[in-house]
Amino acid sequence: MGFASGIVQICSMFYSDVIGQDFIKKQMLQSAREGRIAHAVLIREHLVSGAFALAWAYARYLQCTNRSEEDSCGKCSSCLQISKLAHPDVHLSFPIINDETKKQTTDYYLPEWRSLCLNRTYFDLNDWLTTLGDDKKQPLISTREAENILHKTQLKTFNSPWKIVIIWMAERMNASAANKLLKIIEEPEPGTVFILIVRSTETVLPTILSRCQQIHLPTLKEEEISEYLKDTHSVKPEMAELASRFCDGDVAKAFRLAHTDVSLEEFAAEFVSWSRMCYNARLLEIVPWINDMARMSREGLQGFISFSSFLFKESLGERILESGFSHPSFQKVEFRMEGFSRLFNPKRLKRMLDALDLAHFEIGRNLNPKPVLFALSTELMRTYKMKD
Ligand SMILES: [Zn+2]
Repeated sequence: MGFASGIVQICSMFYSDVIGQDFIKKQMLQSAREGRIAHAVLIREHLVSGAFALAWAYARYLQCTNRSEEDSCGKCSSCLQISKLAHPDVHLSFPIINDETKKQTTDYYLPEWRSLCLNRTYFDLNDWLTTLGDDKKQPLISTREAENILHKTQLKTFNSPWKIVIIWMAERMNASAANKLLKIIEEPEPGTVFILIVRSTETVLPTILSRCQQIHLPTLKEEEISEYLKDTHSVKPEMAELASRFCDGDVAKAFRLAHTDVSLEEFAAEFVSWSRMCYNARLLEIVPWINDMARMSREGLQGFISFSSFLFKESLGERILESGFSHPSFQKVEFRMEGFSRLFNPKRLKRMLDALDLAHFEIGRNLNPKPVLFALSTELMRTYKMKD
């Protein structure tokens, strides 16, 4: 098939491939086995990723013609089609960039979507933007795409028990698109299942929310993420362990950290100079530092911010205070965690973590990194000077 050219398929999701989430998987399997299929499911992945992996495994299980109690067979024609994300009765929808061309529905972007998902099942909007070619615009699910979905739900199924529509980042539907889909999500044709995936439910219409069975994904354990990076993506054990510690339980973040073009040693060196410049309020040095950092890739910058967040959090962590900080990234730079820890209390720490979260979000949205880094540095200078 055309889309397969140039794609090395690493991922094809079964329940057994979904990292952790044992309780949720068990519940989904049980209700599927008992034939209690909700016609609309909303999976919320707040500050984590992995809802698509779960939706993919669920769609596979519902469509599999030879499934066991615990998972799909992987061999029936339905499973083979699902493995390639090319099942005629599993429709995929996700935000795209409307560029005034004919390419205004998801269907035109399926090759890019497959290349992302078949290489890594855990991803977020950053990764999708990168796959789309780093466009500066914000992707959306448009009214035209909503019409496209409606059209697909009216088609006859191809010998499948279910017609499944997976909408990734459904909160990126504009109001008119959401209103178009409202009725069909409220009262779908028999045999139709909607799986909506959202990061946040804030912009989802309450009427849609109330009609969905809701699943909230918890963050994952460090060991689970580290195993996944090593086993599925052949990440070296030391790097897998570090990336899983710095990622706040989010696999997509860990994956980027493990594959960033900047080494952790560089992050460490940059962190030490940055925090010192800010501590001494050396503005004349901060500006050229920002100009240098702004040349880093978006993933690199987000990696640096995640790395910094981790250090700030660890500065109050018992793990550090008990064992001293012997992180390999710091072997080449002079850095004493004990000294750094003394500068922070919970109030200062919260202020800094909020600023880092905001910067991470803004860099992910493709904002110009220079003002973002400047605001972040100013915040760190203020935090150091804060009266307790
Ligand atoms: Zn099967």
